[in-house]
Amino acid sequence: MSWLISHKPSNTNIVFDLGIRQDTHNYPPALYERMQRLVRAEIPQEVFSSLQEANINPDSDIDTVIFSHLHYDHTGDPSRLGPGTKLIIGPGAKRFICVNAPGHPSGHLNLLVRAGLDERVYLTWDTTHDCAILAGMAHTAVYEDERTGIAKCAHEDKHISEEHISLARTLKESFHVEVILAHDSEWLAKNDSRFRG
Ligand SMILES: [Zn+2]
Repeated sequence: MSWLISHKPSNTNIVFDLGIRQDTHNYPPALYERMQRLVRAEIPQEVFSSLQEANINPDSDIDTVIFSHLHYDHTGDPSRLGPGTKLIIGPGAKRFICVNAPGHPSGHLNLLVRAGLDERVYLTWDTTHDCAILAGMAHTAVYEDERTGIAKCAHEDKHISEEHISLARTLKESFHVEVILAHDSEWLAKNDSRFRG
């Protein structure tokens, strides 16, 4: 999932994450080969066509792209951005509250955005991939690495990522902040047009 945040007073367009690229064969060969074996990615639309639908030209109209982290399904194809676009990786963005959300990899970012007068959303990106984990009803899955046989999970540090999941849960349950996960396709299906315009 990618987000376009248009700040009308300053006429600024900020994109948060570029998502996965559609031409997966242009990823580095080792990654492409791994995706062919392990990932069944359906990519009906990528960020650049969504931007064009919103009448935003990626070549000239994007001021800044903020990357939550540098996993391939979040970095898209930055070469398609114009030369004037500023890229921010990890902490450093000033227009919103960027929250250090370590554990997925270290340096992973979340974003707290005021979406309306009384509406705040917390974009967690990959702090967790599953709403049941956010709700405290399930735990992060652990599996055996195919090469090493060592137990691993989707996060670099399971313990630290779980601490941050509980912070996101507190925002949701105690402060009525809407928490949105990057890989929540059900949320996207229900809310596709909600923040447009
Ligand atoms: Zn990730």
